Amino acid sequence: MKFEELNIIEPILKALKDENYKEPSKIQEEAIPSILLGKDLLGCAQTGTGKTAAFAIPTLQLLHNSNKIAKKKKIQSLILTPTRELAIQIYDNFQSYGKNLNLKSAVIFGGVSQKPQEEVLRKGVDILIATPGRLNDLVNQKIIDLSEIEIFILDEADRMLDMGFINDVKKIIRYIPKKRQTLFFSATMPSEIKKLVSTLLVDPVVVEVTPVSSTVDKIKQSLYYVDKANKRKLLISLLKTDEIKSALVFTRTKSDANRLVKYLEDAQIGAKAIHGNKSQNARQEALQSFKDKKIQVLIATDIAARGIDIDELSHVINYGLPNIPETYVHRIGRTGRAGQRGIAISFSDVDEVPFVRDIEKLIKKKIDVVEGHKFPMVNLTPSPKTKATGNRPRTGHNTRVKGTGTQSTSKNTTAGNTNANKTAATGSENTRKAVATGNTNKAKTTTSGNKNTFKSTATGNQNTFRTGATANPNTRTAGAKKNTTRRTSFK
Ligand code: AMP
Repeated sequence: MKFEELNIIEPILKALKDENYKEPSKIQEEAIPSILLGKDLLGCAQTGTGKTAAFAIPTLQLLHNSNKIAKKKKIQSLILTPTRELAIQIYDNFQSYGKNLNLKSAVIFGGVSQKPQEEVLRKGVDILIATPGRLNDLVNQKIIDLSEIEIFILDEADRMLDMGFINDVKKIIRYIPKKRQTLFFSATMPSEIKKLVSTLLVDPVVVEVTPVSSTVDKIKQSLYYVDKANKRKLLISLLKTDEIKSALVFTRTKSDANRLVKYLEDAQIGAKAIHGNKSQNARQEALQSFKDKKIQVLIATDIAARGIDIDELSHVINYGLPNIPETYVHRIGRTGRAGQRGIAISFSDVDEVPFVRDIEKLIKKKIDVVEGHKFPMVNLTPSPKTKATGNRPRTGHNTRVKGTGTQSTSKNTTAGNTNANKTAATGSENTRKAVATGNTNKAKTTTSGNKNTFKSTATGNQNTFRTGATANPNTRTAGAKKNTTRRTSFK
């Protein structure tokens, strides 16, 4: 399908061409025509699917076609999004797609002085992209008037919930006219979000995009079995090679992230961290330094990194593996976007072996194991910390690592509905559970396959990394003891 077939007006088509977008993604194909017809939309999709363009393109077109705009100087469309980083990204996208139109967009978020934002707003804005806290402040101060909103877009609704913004969102909704078009996006559908959907949307078109296993095939994935104590050394040895010019490194916790920054800096590797304890400014600064290639490594926890779009990201490194397999997919999906080469490297210590298995089950393939590296795993006894509850809460999955030596993994189904869409962030920052959308009466499009995301074709599959030797993780193999490079696989 071509963008031309979606009835998109010429100035936007021209802008899309400049962006080098060749064809619409699945969510764009499904959502744009319905939105242009004025319908409400429920988009079950996460970042990487092209969802921003799916709502930005028709919003720009509808506002452009409405002749009220220039006269009114009132905000016609509001996009609510949970974080400053996302708000800026969405704003940038509106600027790009709308560059040949006469519409004004503005972005507001907290953590910075409100004065410059007030000035922009005073001059008149057609499209406002905002985070909930600052928007509420400015509405309360009567600096922003939402009474003329025609298109309301709620982005990453589930994340709003996670971050405690849901009441702010509800307050804002009270200021918006009841008669409007609403576009609602959420990667998962916890019950609170389902409730919100039922109160906000009228007979919505439902578009569901499940990018999970379809995209990972295109990213070259490899796995290093390594002892926890040696992960830092392994990371440095990889980062010091010429191959990894820049990498987004995921840790499980904020303190792991902080410690790693220090360690990398001591090794003369430029690194900064983004996580929930960092101020908006510090996060933005870290992200910008990374995008500007001033630092080689950006270290992130899942919740802080979600939704962040970094062009030309070649490597994602899972320093700590996530306990929720879908999170792995979301993490590695940050590389290989828009035609770039994507490489995902994961480290697993003995305690993370069950997570590897869960991930492989989800992506329906084995990850290539790198053999012969400098720091092979020798400790094959799971630490007592992971016994019973351990320190890694699992949502929807229970992993039991028994001291007896058997590692068993069992799955809890979160909902019996086959449309259930499950995503969760990991570790202490957040644990989330999604339930089925449950709305069977709506027109639903479930999409899958390659067109859902923009990942590059990865390089070949190097199965040479894998040998057939097997061992129980709880038994020291002779090979491992001698520190050889023999592959130890866990059955
Ligand atoms: P999103 O899911 O909105 O965060 O988009 C993910 C990435 O895909 C962004 O870098 C977009 O610029 C890019 N993108 C969106 N739509 C297309 C398209 N039709 N073709 C190529 N890239 C796209």
